[in-house]
Amino acid sequence: MYELIKVNDEIYYVNCPSRVGVVKIADNEVFLVDSGSSKDAIKKIKKNIDDMGFSIKYVVNTHSHADHISGNKYLQENFGINIYGHGIDKYFINEPNLESMFLYGASPYNTLKNHFLLAPKSICDDIPSNILDFSFMELSGHSFSDIVIKCGDIWFIGDIVFNEEAVLKYHVPFIFNVGNYLKSLEKLRNLDGSLFIPSHGPIIANVNEVVDFNIKVIKDIVKLILDFCDVYHTTEEIFDYILSFYKISNDYNQSVLVASTIRSFLSYLVDESMLKIEFLNNRLCYLKYKNIDN
Ligand SMILES: [Zn+2]
Ligand SMILES: [Zn+2]
Repeated sequence: MYELIKVNDEIYYVNCPSRVGVVKIADNEVFLVDSGSSKDAIKKIKKNIDDMGFSIKYVVNTHSHADHISGNKYLQENFGINIYGHGIDKYFINEPNLESMFLYGASPYNTLKNHFLLAPKSICDDIPSNILDFSFMELSGHSFSDIVIKCGDIWFIGDIVFNEEAVLKYHVPFIFNVGNYLKSLEKLRNLDGSLFIPSHGPIIANVNEVVDFNIKVIKDIVKLILDFCDVYHTTEEIFDYILSFYKISNDYNQSVLVASTIRSFLSYLVDESMLKIEFLNNRLCYLKYKNIDN
């Protein structure tokens, strides 16, 4: 684990659960796509990069989730390495406390301030507009403003697709904005490239298959919510139903991630006129529109 896997003469990735991209920009200089899930992980990654004779010039984060940015601080504080990010995610990288505040919707209890949800703080700047080492595109929806990064004809695609193993394990993969996520999947389908390297799961040659799988995951959850909302239900009732349907075990982190994702689905279904939202006996409830065929 943590060894560099060569893709071509310029591009490597680090073999670990939260994959890190290593891209050569000069004879002995590289930049990283994301920085790993912990200080321990980035120390091992940096040692293997050093052993190859490479020096790290900067890090570009695909988005702000802790498993992608937790090596930033170690690299920045000890080696003066610049960290770059994009959009709203850049602000969350600068203020990692925002992540658990956002997920919980208020000041979170201490149990939620753990390394899955709270990365070490680093100073993250906008990606310089004159950078020539790579190109990038915003494909948001999993997070606020996720980016995919193109080097030659290889794409680093962060978390914008979920693999089958992750879906079997988590059932409701984290999504911030369902509508944007579906649009991003269609844009991914049309990207020109020979290989797509996600942060988790198998490397992708045929992106269409993976896009179709992810669209099906979304449609299955939509159907589940719409079927349940054939009669009025509150957010809590919908949440409890989804948790018990998928037999999602009691876990504090998983609970806030799924609750946030379900609220994202409810917003999407209301905005797409598939669910209506009404107060019933002072309870905010959702009901499927009768003409919706799901
Ligand atoms: Zn993520
Ligand atoms: Zn991730």
